[in-house]
Amino acid sequence: MEEKILELCKKKDLKIGIMGGTFNPIHYGHLVTAEEALIQFNLDKVIFIPTGIPPHKTKGILASAEDRYLMTVIATASNQDFFVSRIEIDKKKTCYTIDTLRYLKSIFLDKATLYFITGADAILEILTWKDTEEILKLCKFIAATRPGYDAAKIKDLTTKITKDFGLSQDKKDHIYIMEIPALAISSTDIRKRIRENKPIKYLLPEGVCNYLLKHNLYK
Ligand code: NAP
Repeated sequence: MEEKILELCKKKDLKIGIMGGTFNPIHYGHLVTAEEALIQFNLDKVIFIPTGIPPHKTKGILASAEDRYLMTVIATASNQDFFVSRIEIDKKKTCYTIDTLRYLKSIFLDKATLYFITGADAILEILTWKDTEEILKLCKFIAATRPGYDAAKIKDLTTKITKDFGLSQDKKDHIYIMEIPALAISSTDIRKRIRENKPIKYLLPEGVCNYLLKHNLYK
């Protein structure tokens, strides 16, 4: 694990955001989500963890794990509260969130509360993830939604998991919903725009834009 993150582990009573995503590519919607979570939930740091080999099929072209990692580093470099971890991209097998959370718990011990931040649509599938029940014990969730998203779907899910896994009342607040206007930007749309030679400027950081053009990604 990266040195800076290990240093963080020495502190007590931390609130750490775990920004999970394929980041194919990372864009301003992701960055605004992380910053908003940092402020709204009073997090100490946010660790971006790009998925190496995603557990589910990805629609369209998937850039290499190394390219997605480097683009995430470029995008977050100027923010001192954002870290990026190679923990998933260095794995040569499918990455399951439970394995990442178990590892993070093993290094942070009980010193940190973990908030897994990701897209609401990904969270809606959580009942199909590996070891859902244990995941719910290891972290809280922040579900980022695009404007106009039907939040009732997430509320139904919360009710279902509370009932199915016999979670106590306080665990009812296990999935928080955060609407992010900037999530009108999507990786799928950016990939489509690149294929169609449409502009992508201002949808993602300039450095990321230059990186993907230089490496001819998503053509
Ligand atoms: P996805 O299905 O590609 O994305 C679903 C939606 O969420 C998309 O609209 C996506 O927008 C958005 N999104 C993804 N990450 C986001 C983030 N960090 N912040 C805001 N919006 C985000 O999902 P994914 O990116 O591959 O996976 C999300 C996370 O869930 C990853 O950490 C993955 O490892 C985990 N996961 C785990 C399991 C498992 O353990 N079995 C299964 C599935 C997913 P964009 O396309 O614009 O990013």
